[in-house]
Amino acid sequence: MSFADKIKGYNWDTVKSAILAKTADDVRRALYTDIRTYNDLLALLSPAAEPFIEDMAQQAHRTTLRRFGKIIQMYAPLYVSNKCSNSCLYCGFNRTNKIDRKTLTEKEVMQEAETIYNSGFRHILLVSGEAPKDVPVSYFCRIAQSLKIFFSSISIEIYPMDTEEYKSLIKSGVDGLTVYQETYNRTTYRQVHPAGKKRDYKWRLMTPDRGGIAGFRRINIGALLGLSDWRVEGAFTGLHAIYLMRKYWQSLISISFPRLRPATGGYEPDYPVNDSALAQLICAFRLLLPDAGLVISTREPELLRNNLMPLGITQMSAGSRTSPGGYSLEAHADNQFEISDIRSPEDVARMITSSGYEPVWKDWDKAFLEG
Ligand code: SF4
Repeated sequence: MSFADKIKGYNWDTVKSAILAKTADDVRRALYTDIRTYNDLLALLSPAAEPFIEDMAQQAHRTTLRRFGKIIQMYAPLYVSNKCSNSCLYCGFNRTNKIDRKTLTEKEVMQEAETIYNSGFRHILLVSGEAPKDVPVSYFCRIAQSLKIFFSSISIEIYPMDTEEYKSLIKSGVDGLTVYQETYNRTTYRQVHPAGKKRDYKWRLMTPDRGGIAGFRRINIGALLGLSDWRVEGAFTGLHAIYLMRKYWQSLISISFPRLRPATGGYEPDYPVNDSALAQLICAFRLLLPDAGLVISTREPELLRNNLMPLGITQMSAGSRTSPGGYSLEAHADNQFEISDIRSPEDVARMITSSGYEPVWKDWDKAFLEG
């Protein structure tokens, strides 16, 4: 059964009612059971769990230590193009926004990559708007072949592709796929994606499946927090993660928690997510999925990132630029959104070390596979 089939059995309003109906006893059961179910996730996401947030944090912390130890894997995004054929209301790259657009040449990509490499990173995330004509699959294959000499892990956060295209990227050296559903609420999805290929909810929903079939080693999913009710988004993201972990057990499934940030266009989230809700969400995911990677980016402010880290985070970006050319080119283009944590990679690494954790710049090498 595909995830598109599976999700048909879950109605948004019914899931929301189930979350709101959870009691303190349900939360206690979810907290102190050995094996947690999807139903336990609903309890941990519920308003009834709010008085238990400290207990959740302690358990999430202990679970992460047991499974991962005290390590944080570092990565940096490299934006290669801000051209886009879609018009997502919340995004600075929306095709209707009058911004400076740019697609990096392969030489410029390498110049940006060199700056990132010199900051210590060996895991890189290639990001672009959805503009297959400007950045076709062949473009990504070529730059991956050049980048793999320097980076031990290359992930992509670009437009959804078909399985064969993903296979050609993997062959060129890409090992990770990031794709956020943005919102699992179909009505909201249609509202915030008024034009372009991205209007196709099902095509996007099935992207992690196509990535799993193609054989990506890492698959990262998430919902863009602020578009709809975060508790229900969490429930659907959890459902998706459980499904992917069972079906594509060879891939490491991770979850990101991107909150909407100010961007050109001035979109205001209808469902703002406060810091306490974000912490509850992260703890709930760690308790449900002890083996999942949990990612927090520079969208979040410095102090909050420091405090969220011990709750279950395994991957952090640092020193990010969200515009093509933002690391090293004088004439860089406009950004996708404003980042919040503006610390340098060295400063973030120092914070991680002083918290008793170890920043890991490289935890994987393709030579493992070749060997
Ligand atoms: S979110 Fe992605 S697809 Fe939508 S406008 Fe921005 S870059 Fe384009």
